[in-house]
Amino acid sequence: MICDLRSDTVTQPTPAMLDAMMHAKVGDDVFGEDPTVNKLETMCAEMLGMEGAVFCASGTMTNQIGIKILTQPYDEVICYQGAHIYKYEGGGLAGNSQVSVRLLKGNRGRISAEEVLANINNTKDIHLPLTTVVALENTVVREAGSFYRLSEIEKLSELAQSKNLKMHLDGARLFNALVETGDRAIDYGKHFDSISICLSKGLGAPVGSVLAYKKEYETKARRIRKAFGGGMRQAGFLAAAGIYALNHHVARLKEDHLRAKKLGEALQKSSWVKSAMPVDTNIVIVEVIDGLTPEMVLSKLSECQIKALPFSATSIRFVTHLDFTDVMLEKCMSVFSKINF
Ligand SMILES: *Cc1c(COP(=O)(O)O)cnc(C)c1O
Repeated sequence: MICDLRSDTVTQPTPAMLDAMMHAKVGDDVFGEDPTVNKLETMCAEMLGMEGAVFCASGTMTNQIGIKILTQPYDEVICYQGAHIYKYEGGGLAGNSQVSVRLLKGNRGRISAEEVLANINNTKDIHLPLTTVVALENTVVREAGSFYRLSEIEKLSELAQSKNLKMHLDGARLFNALVETGDRAIDYGKHFDSISICLSKGLGAPVGSVLAYKKEYETKARRIRKAFGGGMRQAGFLAAAGIYALNHHVARLKEDHLRAKKLGEALQKSSWVKSAMPVDTNIVIVEVIDGLTPEMVLSKLSECQIKALPFSATSIRFVTHLDFTDVMLEKCMSVFSKINF
């Protein structure tokens, strides 16, 4: 039994999901003729309180399109200093949108209206890039899946509106946040100009992300997806997995969070762990004790068929997901307590 905790992207489609994929009605989506893609896009737009949506191959693509439709070259985007759009998208903001970034420290990755306000450039000063977008991430992957409440987002969007800034949400794990806060997805739409969600993370689809947006971006988003090489043809087979995931795999995210909490508690008690970040959703990040490296720990874990990721020079990341069961949890807890250095 292999316990693969490297990421929530490692899941296999369930038999019921595969069945939905096999029976999908498809067409050429570049012609707008794939009924299953169209259904997924409409479903996501409605669910998120938005007016349009486009199905893409990855969350990197939806984020990159999201930023590009909201900016002009030389603009500046404000985000958390560890944001996925900045740190883990291969420099795409510079390459695709030619924008600069203003990086904020945030509180466990959540940036506040006050912090944003202090970092909006004076539009009258021609030395300074024009601040045009505030980009949030929910949940925050670098900060062990910490999440925003809608009340904090309301303050940010109020500020953005008053300063004429656009708002983008990297909601790769938005549903992980929502099952904890009880906030509704539909209430997110009015605060953002674009929202990216991933179907292939906690929701367990094999491929796919969706970018939802306001009506005015419909043509531009599709044009840019095409220019990025992201126009897919009979993509309905993949969209069907996404529809299935949204219908069946959202509420169960709570289980992943519960298992992550237990995993975090077991790790905290382990002799080789110095400290653990608070576990808010499905991500556990621990610091190893002085004298150990993540690689030393990971090689011992791997002898016991447990996989995790080195996260920094001193920390390791574990992520729970659809294919991580209670039996695996028991095994991990037992292994954690037994390994010694
Ligand atoms: C995974 C992830 C993405 C998108 O990643 P892809 O691998 O390109 O689908 C975007 N943002 C966050 C926070 C993520 O964790």
